[in-house]
Amino acid sequence: MFRKVLIANRGEIACRIIRTAKRMGIRSVAVYSEADRDALHVREADEAYHIGPAAATESYLKIEAIVSVAKEAGAEAIHPGYGFLAENADFAEACAAAGLVFIGPPATAIRAMGDKAAAKAIMEKAGVPVVPGYHGKTQDRATLLKAAERIGFPVLLKAAAGGGGKGMRIVRREAEFEDALAGAKRESKAAFGDDRMLVEKLIQRPRHIEVQVFGDGLGNIVHLFERDCSVQRRHQKVIEEAPAPGVDDGWRAGICGAAVAAARAVDYVGAGTVEFIVESGPQGRPGDFFFMEMNTRLQVEHPVTEMITGTDLVEWQFRVAAGEPLPMAQEDIRMTGHAVEARLYAEDPANGFLPSPGRVSFMGLPKKDARVRVDQGIAGSGSAIPAEYDPMIAKIIAWRGDRDETVSSLKAAMDEVRITGVTTNASFLSRVLAHPAFRAGGVDTGLLDRSMDELLPAGRSAPSDVLALACLGLLRQQQADAAQTAALSRDPWSPWARADGWRLNDFGQAVLRLIDGGGVVDIPCRFEPPGYRLALPEGTVVAQLGSAGSWHDDDEPVLIDEAMRVQLDGLAPAASVIRDGDTLHVFHEGGHWRLGIHDPLAAAEAHEGASGGLTAPMPGRIAAVQVKKGQTVAAGQPLIVVEAMKMEHTIPAPAAGTVSEIRFKAGDQVREGEVLVVVEEETV
Ligand code: ADP
Ligand code: ADP
Ligand code: MG
Repeated sequence: MFRKVLIANRGEIACRIIRTAKRMGIRSVAVYSEADRDALHVREADEAYHIGPAAATESYLKIEAIVSVAKEAGAEAIHPGYGFLAENADFAEACAAAGLVFIGPPATAIRAMGDKAAAKAIMEKAGVPVVPGYHGKTQDRATLLKAAERIGFPVLLKAAAGGGGKGMRIVRREAEFEDALAGAKRESKAAFGDDRMLVEKLIQRPRHIEVQVFGDGLGNIVHLFERDCSVQRRHQKVIEEAPAPGVDDGWRAGICGAAVAAARAVDYVGAGTVEFIVESGPQGRPGDFFFMEMNTRLQVEHPVTEMITGTDLVEWQFRVAAGEPLPMAQEDIRMTGHAVEARLYAEDPANGFLPSPGRVSFMGLPKKDARVRVDQGIAGSGSAIPAEYDPMIAKIIAWRGDRDETVSSLKAAMDEVRITGVTTNASFLSRVLAHPAFRAGGVDTGLLDRSMDELLPAGRSAPSDVLALACLGLLRQQQADAAQTAALSRDPWSPWARADGWRLNDFGQAVLRLIDGGGVVDIPCRFEPPGYRLALPEGTVVAQLGSAGSWHDDDEPVLIDEAMRVQLDGLAPAASVIRDGDTLHVFHEGGHWRLGIHDPLAAAEAHEGASGGLTAPMPGRIAAVQVKKGQTVAAGQPLIVVEAMKMEHTIPAPAAGTVSEIRFKAGDQVREGEVLVVVEEETV
């Protein structure tokens, strides 16, 4: 076995690989960019080396820098994780040339499968069913359009070099073809440096089911059953599970057999995943399956497979790369129970899933145990989520006896997530896990897009129990402040020490002012031992603090209560209230509410700072300007396209009006918050 391995990655996957290396007694070497000096993977590795600036092209994608660090550190092998260089055949070859073991398949297999067009041709030959479509070399517009017409609309344009759902566009009719092709090519060029396209028949209401395969250097290839990854947004997986709902043994044998045949066709060695697009059958059952692509690496969602099979796939990768045979024979690989994973991202579901990088001011993740696994990529409160990389915070995985129990357990774990400072998809995931269609099982990949209205917080005002929790949070902070003042005054009998209604004011009452979505809510409170009477907009409640959690006031933000239990008219909802500056965050039943603490001075300043222009939602590059100066635009009309984190974000006109200013042109770099376009609103 190796003594020392370099991990050419960051975030949760680097941490996850380091964990297994530690257990196996392998020394781990981390590499990091300027943005990751304090990152978790750097702290967890035995050694860490700086490899360059924040931009991935200057650091995590720099083959020479990584190979030379590996040599310098005396590593014998390199584990690439997923993303970055994991599917880069040149990197695999560079490792070999430097006498290092690349922990992954041979460069030939990566090349064969790295190109979706070439892969489809190989699979057709091996007798694996592929999605009908065009995967030829000729790439001019007319050829692609003709292919689309022959296949019949709707079609899917797909980047031949694609990955992570990037460079993909659905085209429903000929009129949309031109724009969709331009957009897909642009996105693909930016992400993969290659804009060759595939045209595929768009499978209606499909499921995404994939099979984990594993090969060793002795010619053995096994599968470790299937995963269902149909819960997607923008063709990117959000929730994954194993086994796939509605699958019986016969169907499973068919798809797993096809996956092994696919792996055999390229003499596969190491961990791989064969992805299939599957027609939806009756009653939540799967129908016909077609090969879509093969990922020649460890997959983000590999933990669900590990949970049901009781394996450690990273250990398997180390063993196979070191020349050992597969640890298990096909007939010994069994599955037990059901596992579901949710991907927690710093992103804003209500704003087109726009990444929300920044500093996490407070982070609370679910408690881990044998059946709840949390693979995190950042350390905790105070950690940064750099804008340069995938904004994943953690993967949360639950494993139980059956699907229903597992989903409930994962939902309960999700509801324990408390994160402030960056926007996350936690509440969104929690709603998906509660959605009746998901609970029923066997959903298609369009579920999220179709159900967005139900899955997004309705922008409604905070309900009474949330307001009550916020008030109790504030009152509790006042109590704690009072206790501290008393402690400092060394006079426990001072009136300041009375942690009760006295602090409200001399009459034991006060009005707390909160800001809820721009509106001001005044809540008269009266001290009424042993609690408070709160006059909420929807009626008066009696609220009381129950068992106290911990309370910190020395770091920002102030955590008012980690596990606040309050009695609200006899009910005791579990909740947390966290104060971050002038914002109170209430986490309650899977929901996350933000309430402002009224501060008239701050409000005036914020108003002055407001601008009439449309600003860049995050740092990025202008991909296209779709309007001209002086042009009249309709509300919602696309104005400008910003590319950030390799994805395109269109900025629409907020209202009908005239474009009075365009401050950038395609190709320009923009900073977050910079005004891009100014639209004079139409006055009626
Ligand atoms: P999986 O299929 O393993 O669930 P994804 O397809 O979502 O994972 O991709 C995993 C990660 O790797 C994502 O961060 C994605 O941005 C990145 N990624 C996927 N394919 C590529 C690629 N070809 N080049 C660079 N990054 C990629
Ligand atoms: P990536 O390399 O980005 O992972 P894939 O080819 O694996 O690209 O496809 C990603 C997702 O796009 C699939 O999981 C599925 O939701 C959707 N998709 C891909 N091909 C088709 C198709 N022919 N019809 C319908 N949906 C598709
Ligand atoms: Mg894929």
